Amino acid sequence: MIELRNVSKTVTSGTEPLTILHPLTTTIPKGQFVAIVGPSGSGKSTLLGLLAGLDAPSSGSVIIDGVDITALGEDALAKLRGEKIGFVFQFFHLIPSLTAFENVAVPLEIRGAPNAATRARALLEEVGLTGRAHHYPSQLSGGEQQRVALARALANDPPILLADEPTGNLDTSNGRHIMDLLTSIHRSTHTTLVLVTHDAELAALADVRISMRDGRVV
Ligand code: ADP
Ligand code: MG
Repeated sequence: MIELRNVSKTVTSGTEPLTILHPLTTTIPKGQFVAIVGPSGSGKSTLLGLLAGLDAPSSGSVIIDGVDITALGEDALAKLRGEKIGFVFQFFHLIPSLTAFENVAVPLEIRGAPNAATRARALLEEVGLTGRAHHYPSQLSGGEQQRVALARALANDPPILLADEPTGNLDTSNGRHIMDLLTSIHRSTHTTLVLVTHDAELAALADVRISMRDGRVV
């Protein structure tokens, strides 16, 4: 379960403080599929980054399975993220000097998982990329890169999967492939799935929709 208690984010824009997320209190139960929707600039990525512990709130707490992640030091936070959270970015963020297989193996190796290689191969198979394991990101299409990024996010079987417009940079058919993978992973593993999307069809599949505008939930 993820709890947000009065979480806000204020940044300094020039000399003026600018609140990009107004205080938000909400709970996301374990296993829920939540879609975050709203126009560009409404604070969707800010909210997701706070949920993931990638960014620190200006006020309030983010509590994941009873642990206030805003109170954790860097190492403890990194450990919790590695165990609990998979994150898929709009622009993939694969490591360019590593092959698809190596990108997927990284989080397994960091965690010291036994049989990392076997697991990485199985994950690539799950996303339909067995034949591309030894390709570098630059040798893969956008859709293939996003499938590698999804396999990497799933490497440690995270109970929470966060995705920021994962189909936003893909054509329709690749977008659909990612969408089908996400929904089938959610169904089969009961992972909590929080998805930022512009895709009304995808948002309609969610249990709950959070609509944002100007840094507030509307
Ligand atoms: P969305 O993902 O909904 O498009 P974001 O969460 O990325 O929106 O951003 C919300 C608003 O906050 C935008 O106006 C953006 O320009 C602004 N913003 C985000 N991060 C920063 C920052 N570090 N400094 C200043 N402004 C920021
Ligand atoms: Mg965004």
